[in-house]
Amino acid sequence: MLKYLRFCICLSLFWAVQLNAFEFTGSKWLGAQTDYYVDLEGISPTGIAWNTAFIDAMEEWTNETIFDFNLITEFKDPCESNGFNGVNFTTDICGQEFGENTLAVAIRTFRFEQLGPPSIREADIYFKDSVVYDIYDGNIVQFGIPTGSIDFQRTALHELGHVIGLDHEQFDSAIMRPEIGNIDRLQEDDIEGVDTLYSGLSNCAIKELRFGAVNESLSSGDCTVDELTLGDSDASFLDIYQFSLTETTELEFSIASNELESVLLLADQELDYIDADTNTANDCNSNIEIELDEGEYFLLVNTFTDQVKPACNTTGSYQLIANYISTNEVSLSGVTSLTGNDTTALFSGGITANGGISYGNIFTANDSLDITATISIDPVHQSKIGYIVIAAVVGQEIYLMNSLGQFVLSSESPGEIINTGSRILGTTENIVIAEDLIPSSLGIEEIVVDFVVGYGTFSNPSEVYFHQSPINLTVVPE
Ligand SMILES: [Zn+2]
Repeated sequence: MLKYLRFCICLSLFWAVQLNAFEFTGSKWLGAQTDYYVDLEGISPTGIAWNTAFIDAMEEWTNETIFDFNLITEFKDPCESNGFNGVNFTTDICGQEFGENTLAVAIRTFRFEQLGPPSIREADIYFKDSVVYDIYDGNIVQFGIPTGSIDFQRTALHELGHVIGLDHEQFDSAIMRPEIGNIDRLQEDDIEGVDTLYSGLSNCAIKELRFGAVNESLSSGDCTVDELTLGDSDASFLDIYQFSLTETTELEFSIASNELESVLLLADQELDYIDADTNTANDCNSNIEIELDEGEYFLLVNTFTDQVKPACNTTGSYQLIANYISTNEVSLSGVTSLTGNDTTALFSGGITANGGISYGNIFTANDSLDITATISIDPVHQSKIGYIVIAAVVGQEIYLMNSLGQFVLSSESPGEIINTGSRILGTTENIVIAEDLIPSSLGIEEIVVDFVVGYGTFSNPSEVYFHQSPINLTVVPE
């Protein structure tokens, strides 16, 4: 359920309120950017267009902070609540009078979010048109400028700070001081304020999502909702997993726990929430089934601030199971090398039981499985004599495929990189890990295997390039 709030922030000539350094409530724009519609008419007495000064103010915030204003040269009526950010000179604020000492007002509209404070969805600026404005640098009233004329550009800078999400700064030197003064450019305090407000994701450790099962826990030391979203008082713990999809994919995420009252949330890369399971009705578990388009996503495992029912706590261990069905091999992230060298190599892989119509990670023991991977070789390694490494990880054991196509236990050949034999590396290497593999024919009714492929060159034999997010195979009983 979404709710909207409106809020008025004014820049006054004299009046001040007591606040701490770079004040904000935590409300911010998702994605640290917004489009601003600007088409102001008229020219200041010093000959600079109002529009130019407003755009310069926008660019100052964009250039000096991690927030970006995207300029759209088009007029949008600030009075219309339409999801567009507009600016204009007005006689009143949509029918409400300006305060006597008010120069300009920024009005923000908010939307409640699943986690953290409400986000800003629209922010319009109204300049009081009875104010004698001009455009100039330096002290607020200068020689040669008619006494009482107010610099429009620093007023725009201040109001745009409110648009971004800053409140007034009482003590330090800042454009966000509540009364206009000699400060005509952004100060360190303003810049730090924006960087702090928009740095929540960097406060939390972000894990790479692995398909299959992962055992984890929410416990002391984990990131909190407050650390992620800032400005709220939600101390519940949070694990954050990121994943990327290269095509439309069906996904199922489930949390099983005997002790943790789990909440699952799915968000895009701007932390705009797409889906959530906050149900507490039956047990401690939670589940999300969804089809997602290509893109970058976050899966968040969270809980409640206060315990909801006796059987489930706000800390504890859980198992996260992530399953997918796609129409192609999926991209495999976390590309690296044994010595941590950068590479432009790309990896994809998948398992199919129907000849490539669909790929997934959950199969039954009687399925006939084709397991494949594709490596787009780094151009610097193409045409070189190299080798392919195929690893199968079962529990703590790592098996490597030898040149006979057999998986052998790597711990029996310590220090040796067992590979599938030498070849001249092409642009793309198509790798068959298994063909028509029927787990039950090998006596396997249930197993979890993570496959990883890599390649190296004989000119640098100790360096293997590979992906960290594995190709997961989960065989479940029929
Ligand atoms: Zn203000």
